[in-house]
Amino acid sequence: MAQNVNSYTINGTNIVIKGMTCLFYVAYCVLISCKHSKSSHYDCITLKLNDVELFLLLYSVKNLFFERLDGAVDLFVCTVGDYVRIRTDDPKIPTSVAQVESLDVERQMVRIRWYYLPEETKQGRRTFHGIKEVLLSNHYDVRSIHTIQGKCVVYSLENYMNLKPIGADDYFCRFEYNCVEKCVVDGFVDVECDCEMPYNPDLFMVQCDGCMCRFHPSCKGMKDKDAMGLTKFLCSKKCSDDDAKCSDDDAKCSDDDAK
Ligand SMILES: [Zn+2]
Ligand SMILES: [Zn+2]
Repeated sequence: MAQNVNSYTINGTNIVIKGMTCLFYVAYCVLISCKHSKSSHYDCITLKLNDVELFLLLYSVKNLFFERLDGAVDLFVCTVGDYVRIRTDDPKIPTSVAQVESLDVERQMVRIRWYYLPEETKQGRRTFHGIKEVLLSNHYDVRSIHTIQGKCVVYSLENYMNLKPIGADDYFCRFEYNCVEKCVVDGFVDVECDCEMPYNPDLFMVQCDGCMCRFHPSCKGMKDKDAMGLTKFLCSKKCSDDDAKCSDDDAKCSDDDAK
């Protein structure tokens, strides 16, 4: 009989080791080294041990900068509603993102709802897709609890853009994907620039000082680095003509330009 629970502690693999875990380990290594250096006789064995510890110390310091440590094992509590990284059998996409729907401890199974990567959809990855973009699918699945590698977070695009910094396990979702019809579910999404594309948070855009609209430098015949150096940018002759008026009537200028 299925035994569904809300939370379950999982022995994950390939878990991100960050900040505190690593600091404790560094502190432990320093303590061990101090203990050995107080030893009255410095024989070869002690020196060799200290070398190993020094290596471990440097290695853990390195891990402070390299977030993911492959093969590390860590315990974490998985709860219904959590976003998780799941190990897949596909070598091209070894890890996928999903949301936990229910946990069956007795059978050690988890029911999940998959998030698709843009390249997993029929339409494929487009230029407006962000590197960390995922699409909420209507594809539900049952997997072994042990395929859960760790937790992650799927944000709205707006909240994702406010993250500082964006972590390895942070994703965003703004589209739903119907995997039966093989299409993106119709929904309203803002488009920007002359190319009328949805916003890609990974692409630099330059903002017009007249109408405040954003543009890809390439769509305006500029290189990114040139656009970054601009102190003032006006998207069109109309914006430059209206520039004086803009300061008096910003709302009017934006309305005019939106058309
Ligand atoms: Zn553009
Ligand atoms: Zn403008």
